Amino acid sequence: MSALAQELDTVISRGFVVDPETKLQAVRDVGIRDGRIAAVSESPLHGRETIDARGLVVTAGFIDLHQHGQTPENYAFKARDGVTTALELEVGVRSVAAWYAERAGKALINFGASAGHIPARMAVFNDSGGLLPKDRAILPQATSQQLSGILAILSRGLNEGALGVGMGIAYTPGATREEIFRIFQLAAARRRTVFVHLRSSGPVEPGGLDALQEVLSDAAATGARLHVVHITSSELRETPLALEMIHSAARQNVKVSTEAYPYTAGMTDISSAIFSEGWQQRNGGITFKDLQWAQTGERLTEESFARYRQQGGMVAIHSIPEDVVRAAVTAPDVMIASDGILENGKGHPRAAGTYARVLGRYVRQQHLLSLMDALAKMSLLPANLLGFSNKGRLQPGADADITIFDPEKVIDRATFENPAQYSEGIPYVMVGGTWIVKNSEIQPGLFPGKAVRYAN
Ligand SMILES: [Zn+2]
Repeated sequence: MSALAQELDTVISRGFVVDPETKLQAVRDVGIRDGRIAAVSESPLHGRETIDARGLVVTAGFIDLHQHGQTPENYAFKARDGVTTALELEVGVRSVAAWYAERAGKALINFGASAGHIPARMAVFNDSGGLLPKDRAILPQATSQQLSGILAILSRGLNEGALGVGMGIAYTPGATREEIFRIFQLAAARRRTVFVHLRSSGPVEPGGLDALQEVLSDAAATGARLHVVHITSSELRETPLALEMIHSAARQNVKVSTEAYPYTAGMTDISSAIFSEGWQQRNGGITFKDLQWAQTGERLTEESFARYRQQGGMVAIHSIPEDVVRAAVTAPDVMIASDGILENGKGHPRAAGTYARVLGRYVRQQHLLSLMDALAKMSLLPANLLGFSNKGRLQPGADADITIFDPEKVIDRATFENPAQYSEGIPYVMVGGTWIVKNSEIQPGLFPGKAVRYAN
């Protein structure tokens, strides 16, 4: 036995290794030492611990670019869905250093955040909302002094290692074209990606396409990298055309990418600006019964809508046609991201089931994309977007963030009525060399998750 083999902490034996960067898909042994992948070998390896992975796929852990829920409850559902890094990049956070400090040494999986325009604007305008603005930050235009205040908060967040700048313009419609442009300028100067929930949605002008063109223009004009979040819920039936515009812009050297979740409904707070006058048309002509109250699963009426809008809380919006979901989920360059958040077991099933649903439903059952392409959309492409050369890869030298799943069994179980159900068929998940899921069970009392910050 060689010295190298004797030093291995863990060996994953005889699994089907899939690595989208090198295009390797073959039976290999994977050796792990000191939190990193030390060897990927055709011949058997020996280590202190061996996991038999025959018949299972061994790949890089999934990187979720869009995870609002950043609590132990949420991390457990992420882990069971194969996610090893969960990032809050759309809404982002206000006090970046404090946010990271709160989670240090207490996280099951890796975590990170952007500097958020929404929370910065809420602070400057003294809004009373929680995750999303509820009153004072929604409609007013910023004075030059207020805009300076917003930019100062974002700039401080970037100094503290934020991964990018987050924006949800639909939640802050008072943000002028200038305010948004200035933020793109800041991001460009600091070489950070702007993660954007578009200003408007749906087919009626000003709708999803108009909103996409606003940020494509800002990205082109400033050189900042743009990532458009959940393209399907913003563009609805126009999604194929929006993807064509994004691809076309990318060919003209605009730095732009996008993501989608594999569900025909979105979810947001009913008290937010998403439900201001005209929400039906902005969501493609839906009505009250297409809204589902997350707390109870009930469909809404005009009366219950008015009552819950006053109260506030999460509501599912059944607005996205299945063929639109399919178009985005199967496009090789559209990343998979969940937009997940669960609170005491309530929320959208995407928080728990996104990754297993793509692998089970769209890869295995419907044969709509290859396993290699699907895994690239979940790990390699998000890693490359953020400049993580040590993640998103099942290669020697990479961080030992590893997901092992059964390609014949992997499937989501979470539903709109009962979202807090773990995915199935993902028996092993490792973060930084530590097994956090073993034999399909969360390993208690372990917190190997590390802060993921901007690295230039
Ligand atoms: Zn959003």
